[in-house]
Amino acid sequence: MGIIQALKDDELQNSYVYRRDFSETLSPIDKAFSFDRFEGALSNKNINLKAMLVGKEAVVVGLGNSSFQDIIFRAGIHPKRRASDLTGDERYALYNSIKQLIADRIRLGGKDQFIDFYGKWGSYKPSMGPNMKGKNCVACGGAVEHVSIGGGQVFYCPNCQH
Ligand SMILES: [Zn+2]
Repeated sequence: MGIIQALKDDELQNSYVYRRDFSETLSPIDKAFSFDRFEGALSNKNINLKAMLVGKEAVVVGLGNSSFQDIIFRAGIHPKRRASDLTGDERYALYNSIKQLIADRIRLGGKDQFIDFYGKWGSYKPSMGPNMKGKNCVACGGAVEHVSIGGGQVFYCPNCQH
């Protein structure tokens, strides 16, 4: 993923992308993104799950609110969980979900709401997220719900995510 942003000088400090150094942060598309390294980055974080995966505190780069919802749905983890409370199995499920989501998105040319650099629409349709508002879970058929976390709505399935 890349971004180009035009800003006035006095807007720079408030920019999400300005002066962020990701060179020491794990990238899920990097070969070095192993479970050991992911778990090592998690082990001392007593923050909520979303902050762990999205934004300035995140242990990995490149995940947004949309991927977060899809990832924790695939991993069967409730959005309000804290990073430090995850079991070993849940950490492994989270790691696998991140890898699978990234692989699926790349294979399908990105999300179905965006066009690529050449004007071609992506065909990745999230299993969980705002597109599921008022719909039923694709896995169990139960009603999808949402909560507000970290300044955004997070959609989830109360049956599948604990
Ligand atoms: Zn479900």
